[in-house]
Amino acid sequence: MKAIVDCNSFYAACERLFKPSLHGKPVVVLSNNDGCIVSRTDEAKALGIQMAGPYFQHKKEIEQNNVAVFSSNYHLYGDMSRRVMEALRMLAPQVEVYSVDESFLDLDGIEPAKLYEYALFLKHTTEQWTGIPVSIGVAPSKVLSKLANKLAKKDKTGTNGVMLLQTPEQQMDALLRTPVEDIWGVGSAGAGKLRLFNINTAWDLRNMNEEWARKNLGGVVGVRLIKELRGIPCIEMKDPRITKKMIATTRMFGKPVYALRELKEAVTTYTARAAEKLRRQNGAAMEMSVFVVVSNNNGLQYNPYVRSAYTRLPVATALTNVLIHHAAEMTASLYREGCKYIKAGVVLSRIIPANNIQFNLFSPPENINVQKLMQTIDNINFSMQHDILKFAANGTSKNWKMRQEMRSNRFTTRWEELCVVK
Ligand SMILES: [Mg+2]
Repeated sequence: MKAIVDCNSFYAACERLFKPSLHGKPVVVLSNNDGCIVSRTDEAKALGIQMAGPYFQHKKEIEQNNVAVFSSNYHLYGDMSRRVMEALRMLAPQVEVYSVDESFLDLDGIEPAKLYEYALFLKHTTEQWTGIPVSIGVAPSKVLSKLANKLAKKDKTGTNGVMLLQTPEQQMDALLRTPVEDIWGVGSAGAGKLRLFNINTAWDLRNMNEEWARKNLGGVVGVRLIKELRGIPCIEMKDPRITKKMIATTRMFGKPVYALRELKEAVTTYTARAAEKLRRQNGAAMEMSVFVVVSNNNGLQYNPYVRSAYTRLPVATALTNVLIHHAAEMTASLYREGCKYIKAGVVLSRIIPANNIQFNLFSPPENINVQKLMQTIDNINFSMQHDILKFAANGTSKNWKMRQEMRSNRFTTRWEELCVVK
């Protein structure tokens, strides 16, 4: 059996954890630059505040209803996510982290008769250890477990936040109650297509034959989906050690940027961040690209466009100083005076394990001291404060930095921002 553990309204739950006065109150969290609503508590949902709705559109009802609003605080959410996943790793046999607030568990080792009790135990213990409420769906396949989780979340009081789809009757009941757009991997576009075939519920889809799925549902993927809905596991647990093949750091600027110097600062800062991620997975990149987004607002229409540049690195590397050098060159080649830049990003790709680097005849062996320097910078930045050590190219003013006007403290990762009780 597979389980999925999903944190309820994760970002908002993290905020509420450090502000207990908000328990039972509506809370929302905004995306980068305070743009859209990305997390809502049940109380905020009940007020009709839409997911992904622009903040400014909801501002009035938010103020009228005393909804607590927070800018996103990724330091806090990242650390709380790590704690939840760590708790699950201590409690469950095999854990595959699927997203910041979801993990699949392999429960094949648990006696079928004890599964429900075990899932309840997982839920209560995780909540007790971390303070973050979770919902759990348990079923023979990943797709069914996601579906069970959704139903558990919809009716938290009726289900205790845990739903088990063990018997064919339980599965049939759940599938009948699930509209096609709620199936993992279908989405609203896919649902529209399915409805043309008069397939409205997950149960309707489950009963389609594999030939039909191969023809109309994207081949193997469709067949797999139908099998998963029937409780036949086809999507295996992934090895959590698989590392990313591509690392991207991209941000919208808090304020538009016009000067090359500022644009370079932003791009090299993102490069430093991406390089840090790369080193954390012991990788080295062979390719790098930089892109910038230009706002093309001529007063009549808003039509942003992207300019990008690409470099094949002479030798795969994870050294920030080398990557920054290429990033700055590419940024200069993309820059046009008088343009209004609103966003930039860096992508590192063709990532190989750092111990497999193939040097070419003309490249000097990478200086071992520079690698040690990178390690030291990473350690200090991680333990003290992000960016306490950085390259001069990253600049100091950061006018382009994200807007986060309502960010809470980084309670769990900064000494000076600890929660004060009295
Ligand atoms: Mg969630």
